[in-house]
Amino acid sequence: MGIEIKPENTIFTSTQMDIQDLYKCVHCGLCLSSCPTYTVLGKETDSPRGRIAYMKAIYEEKTYLTPRIVSHLDSCLQCRACESVCPSGVPFGRLMEHTKSYIVNKKKYSFFRSVVNKFLYKVVFPKQFILSLLSIGIKVYKALKLNKIRILMPGFMIPLDKMISDTPKEVFRADGSIFYSNPIVKKRSVALLSGCVMPIVQSDTMRATVRVLNKNGCDVFVPESQKCCGALNIHGGDLEGAKSLAKANIDAFIDLDIEAIIVVSGGCGAIMKEYFDLFKNDEEYLEKAIRFSNKVKDISEFLIQISIIKPENNLDYTVTYQDSCHLSNVQKITSPPRQLLEQIEGITIVEMEDNKCCGAAGVYSLFHKEMSSVLASSKMDSVESTRANVVISGNPGCMIQINGEASKRKSPIKVMHLVDILDEAYSYAN
Ligand code: SF4
Ligand code: SF4
Repeated sequence: MGIEIKPENTIFTSTQMDIQDLYKCVHCGLCLSSCPTYTVLGKETDSPRGRIAYMKAIYEEKTYLTPRIVSHLDSCLQCRACESVCPSGVPFGRLMEHTKSYIVNKKKYSFFRSVVNKFLYKVVFPKQFILSLLSIGIKVYKALKLNKIRILMPGFMIPLDKMISDTPKEVFRADGSIFYSNPIVKKRSVALLSGCVMPIVQSDTMRATVRVLNKNGCDVFVPESQKCCGALNIHGGDLEGAKSLAKANIDAFIDLDIEAIIVVSGGCGAIMKEYFDLFKNDEEYLEKAIRFSNKVKDISEFLIQISIIKPENNLDYTVTYQDSCHLSNVQKITSPPRQLLEQIEGITIVEMEDNKCCGAAGVYSLFHKEMSSVLASSKMDSVESTRANVVISGNPGCMIQINGEASKRKSPIKVMHLVDILDEAYSYAN
């Protein structure tokens, strides 16, 4: 029987969801065991299949967005593990992005949530100025030791407290600098996405990225006019805000004479590789977005592609590698980080048995503390069972989440970005 598509239906059409995508699900259930929320709650309503059923029912006007349905839809981490295993090719990530946008448009979030969303997506992430204030706030928080005042430390602040204590003194500024490489190796030119929060809370990792790229013959340009990638906006249902950030980034990078746009955050890279999805109906930007997306490379895939100089330093670490959902499920990058680690002498790699989402998922932990915390705890159990002394990740969100959980448990485990460990392996080589 054919599917009746109702173009006149206002449901979802404001977000330009491709309605056919809703009908690709054949209800096989193969995705269920990959879904973190289903694994924890064991309920169909919190599974990919259940969420698709809700989307369809809303589209077919069999129900409307009740608070209960909003809650089941909203508790999705958008990790896309379901999409990765789906034999019918259901583009679950895209469906959920449009659904979140629909929830926002229909004003179905609570007043508090709507205000926080607007503040984060319209004020904080897109504005470098506000992010600079954030870095000042972090300095004040550390100087006054505000974490010692329990009343200022609600539950969700505990993982953030660890992040704040680890924040380096100097931010990494996207100020148009070019960092030149060692002239004895073949020259390449790349540009670097600095991102929104990473240049503040993980500025040392940004500097390590430049050093690792320079070491491997790449001149690194950091365009000043670049913006936040927009991933958090997309996941929060602010598709218009994401489009405007994507346009700014396309304009900042598109005319540069570079081999690649390097990204050191799995979540940012995934969305930047899908920018074209935002511009399906925009003749001016669609072609530019495709060219842009084709140049985006996660640091690990780029370094493997150019064949790195073997790091000279021997590091006596047992490491386990945390696959960021957006790096593995969306960008399909799982081997390159491990291949790079294998090139460091002295390192032993032990795989985790369960490599599900750690529960970070952008700002998920702010609104779904319980689920986020259960997943963080389960992730830490998996990490600890490897007996590794270092966890490596290619995504800042995972690092903050795991670091927060390690701090709660007073675990001595070190959490490092892949480029940090490569930088350490190179740093005594000169
Ligand atoms: S695996 Fe795909 S087709 Fe099967 S239930 Fe899940 S979403 Fe539907
Ligand atoms: S995106 Fe992740 S949390 Fe959401 S339904 Fe799919 S597997 Fe579950």
